[in-house]
Amino acid sequence: MKLAVVGSGYVGLVAGLCFAELGHDVTIVDNDPEKISLLQQGQLPIHEEFLAELLTCKRDAGKVKFTASIAEALEDCCVIFVAVGTPPKENGEADLSFIEEVVRTIAQHALGYVVIVEKSTVPVLTHAWIRKIMALNGAAHDSFDVVSNPEFLREGTAVLDFLYPDRIVIGADTERSANLVSEIYLPLTSGEYHSRKTALPAPNSAIVPSNLIVTSAKSAELIKHASNAFLATKISFINAVASICESVGADVQEVCKGMGADARIGSRFLNPGIGYGGSCFPKDLTAFRSVAHESGYEFALLDQVISINEQQRARFLRKIRQALWNLKNKRLAVLGLAFKGGTDDIRESPALEIVKSLVEEGAVVTAFDPAAMERTKAELGDSINYVDSAYAACEEADALLILTDWAEFAQLDLKRLKEMLRYPIIVDGRNLYDPAAMKDAGIQYYSVGRPAVVQSSKTLKATAAKTTT
Ligand code: NAD
Repeated sequence: MKLAVVGSGYVGLVAGLCFAELGHDVTIVDNDPEKISLLQQGQLPIHEEFLAELLTCKRDAGKVKFTASIAEALEDCCVIFVAVGTPPKENGEADLSFIEEVVRTIAQHALGYVVIVEKSTVPVLTHAWIRKIMALNGAAHDSFDVVSNPEFLREGTAVLDFLYPDRIVIGADTERSANLVSEIYLPLTSGEYHSRKTALPAPNSAIVPSNLIVTSAKSAELIKHASNAFLATKISFINAVASICESVGADVQEVCKGMGADARIGSRFLNPGIGYGGSCFPKDLTAFRSVAHESGYEFALLDQVISINEQQRARFLRKIRQALWNLKNKRLAVLGLAFKGGTDDIRESPALEIVKSLVEEGAVVTAFDPAAMERTKAELGDSINYVDSAYAACEEADALLILTDWAEFAQLDLKRLKEMLRYPIIVDGRNLYDPAAMKDAGIQYYSVGRPAVVQSSKTLKATAAKTTT
C-alpha cells in the first residue's frame, strides 16, 4: 500500500521505515528541513539499532521518500499516520497543537477519502477533536475516518519492537478504516513477514504472528495512556520496595526474582534504579492524570507514582554523598547520559538530572555515553567534561557513577577500573553488577535496594598506598 507518516522522530521514522520493510511505499514528512535533508542524503538524525540498515536498504529500493510537504504526501496515498510530538504543557496536559496543525493541513490538501491515524500518544477523545478540525476546515463527513493506532515501541529496541510487537491495537469507529489499517499490518498479523528469510532477527520473547486487537477509537487511546501509567507504576512500586530493602538490609533483586516468578506479576519492568524518564512516561503520566481529572476522577495513585520517582533521584544523590561525603571539587566519572541504554535520547533523562545536581554541588564531572554525548553537549555545554570511553572517564576520578543501563557498562574490567580510580568506589544506579564480584575486586559498591559492599580497611589501605606511590 501507499502510505504517509508525518513526523520523522523516534516513532515516525521507525514506523515509516518498518512499514517500508513490510513492503509498503512510504512517504515520510517532517517540517524540520534539516531532518528531511539529512534523511534524503541517507543520514539518520537519531540513534536506533537496525535503523541505518533499514534506511539504506529502503532508500535504495525506492520504498521510502522524504518531504516537508504534507500536500505532496497526500498526492498518492489515502492513509496518513500522524507521529508528531505531544509534549507536556506547564499544567501537565498534553500539548496537541502540533496534531491540530497537521490535521488542518490534511483537511486542506486531501484529494479523496483519507484515513488519519493517530500514532502519537494522545488523550482519550482526541479522535473526536480531529473530526471537528477536519469538518471546520471543509472536509465532508464521509471523506475521512480517524483511527487510533498507539505505538508501544521502546527506544533502544524500537525497530524490533515494531516488527515483533506484543500487540497491535487498532481503534476504529468504521469497518472501512479498521480494515484498511489492519491490512497495513497484515504481514505481521499473518506471520508472513516473520517467515521471510530476510526478516530481522526475532527477539527472545517475540510473539509470532503478532496479536491484533481491534477496539473503538476511545478505548485504543485509553489503552496507550493506561499502559504507560501502569508500567511507570511498576517501576515506582519496585523502587519503593527497594527503599525498604535498603532500610532492613534485604536484597531487592532477590525480592524481584520471587515476585516476578508469579505469572500474574511477571519479572519484566521490575527494575529498581534511579527512576523512569524519557520523553514518554513523565509526560504521559501527567497527561493521563489531567484526563482523569477532566473526566471527574482524581487519580491520586498517579501522584504517588510521580512523587516516588522524584524521590528516587534524591535518594540516589544522598547515596553518592554517603559514599563520598562532600561533593564539592570531587572528580566524578559518570557512565551514561541517555535516559536508557540503546538510545541517544536525553529528554527527561534521570541521568542528566543527577549530573546537573552534581555540578550544582560543585563536583567535577567527566562523562561518557556511547550515543548521547552530542545531545548532552548541546544541553550542558562545557559544564562537564566529555571523554570517549568508560575507562577514560575513570582516570583519576574519586568515584564512578553508573547512571544508564547500556549493556557495555555491565561488562567492564573491574580490575582495570580499580586501577584507574583514585578511590575504589562505584555507585551503581542501575544494579548492573553482582555485589559479590565487586567484593572480590576490592571495590566499595553502592547500588539500589541491596546492601552496600564495604571493603575492609586492609583492602582500602592497599589501594591508598598504590594511589600515593
Ligand atoms: P520526536 O520529537 O522525536 O518527533 C516528532 C517529529 O515530529 C519531529 O521530527 C518534528 O519535527 C515533527 N513535527 C512536529 N510538528 C510537525 C508538523 N506540523 N509537520 C511535520 N512534522 C512535524 O517525538 P517521538 O519521540 O517520535 O514521539 C512522537 C509521538 O509518539 C509522541 O506523541 C510520543 O508520546 C509518542 N510515542 C513516543 C515513543 C518513544 O519512545 N519516543 C513511544 C511511543 C509513543
